Amino acid sequence: MRVRRDALRRNFARIAEKVGPRGRILPMVKANAYGLGARSVVESLTPLDPWGFGVATVDEGMELREFGVTRPIVICAPVPPDDLGRALEADLQVSVSSLRALRAVEEAARRAGRVAEVHVEVDTGMGRSGFDWRRVGEWLPHLTRRSPYRIWTGCFTHLHSADEDGDSVDRQWERFSGVLSRARIASPDLLVHVLNSAGLFLRPELGEGVSRPGIFLYGGRVGRDQPAPEPVVSLHARVVHVRDAPSGTTLGYGSTYAASGEERWATLSIGYGDGLPRALGNRGFAIVAGARVPIIGRISMDVTVVDITGVSAVEEGVVATLIGSQGSDAITLDDVAELAGTISYEVLTGLTPRLPRIWSDDERPASTHRNDKGMRSS
Ligand SMILES: *Cc1c(COP(=O)(O)O)cnc(C)c1O
Repeated sequence: MRVRRDALRRNFARIAEKVGPRGRILPMVKANAYGLGARSVVESLTPLDPWGFGVATVDEGMELREFGVTRPIVICAPVPPDDLGRALEADLQVSVSSLRALRAVEEAARRAGRVAEVHVEVDTGMGRSGFDWRRVGEWLPHLTRRSPYRIWTGCFTHLHSADEDGDSVDRQWERFSGVLSRARIASPDLLVHVLNSAGLFLRPELGEGVSRPGIFLYGGRVGRDQPAPEPVVSLHARVVHVRDAPSGTTLGYGSTYAASGEERWATLSIGYGDGLPRALGNRGFAIVAGARVPIIGRISMDVTVVDITGVSAVEEGVVATLIGSQGSDAITLDDVAELAGTISYEVLTGLTPRLPRIWSDDERPASTHRNDKGMRSS
């Protein structure tokens, strides 16, 4: 797996351009920065001056502190009460979605001798967390009441359909801004954050304050009509076995494929144990020796077989591309997600630690460095 630092940084720069000088960026680096590697992502983006970093769990935030991150770190998801003490010790800003959570934060801060910085999540239609926007009259007074144990730092909501439905974004924004105009009477300096990647391209004018992009930074598309990010991740594996397959030769678990004539097969050293979606069996593709070839049979834990009939120059040791470009052909992250019946997010976060993350700033396509270290060869 190769990760392009220059592309990641250019995707960040495009977002920065989108939000303009009034906006700051809170890159979401949860789930190990969508599988790319949180440390490398944070180190690559810090020189571009993000406002802070967003995570989903206390452990993720603590890990960033261990890497030496000094900027604000916001846990943009509800925190289990037992974890709050650790969050505050690590100077993580926490989200609250209920009055019970607010009381738990104040209690944890009192015990830790800290002042908690809280971000209030407002549910405007996502439903999974947040204070209900319709009941703002009930919960708002508890937040505007002063407490020696916490500061009300931020207020946010999360969009549910920004990749496909602009009207839904407007509806959610209207609900959120109703809450915000009341909240700002008591707390005029609230930091506001609403936009995910898709929202940023659909309604960049709402990016005042802070935005929370994830997938676009990492090379995933954000809707059919929006510009594509630069690819950041590519996935490669070596050919470890080549064979002739006479008609009738069966392949893989369940023998779901059999050679229908004189075929030639190549076995690649990558499987679902590396995170290659098993759903690509008999559906997906690889590029080998510049040719696009189909994945045949079921994907195994450690290997995947492609049909290279008629493709010359495929021998053991050659590098195949499963995501990325070779010559003029490319298989994008979103192509793979669609073929596998899922989304780019799940493909990226599914790539397992068995794959080395090889970072480069190199402009050249990965296929030109066949013999680099770190490519799995077993
Ligand atoms: C993951 C996440 C984001 C980032 O969303 P993308 O679609 O990846 O841009 C933003 N906000 C919250 C609360 C999230 O959980």
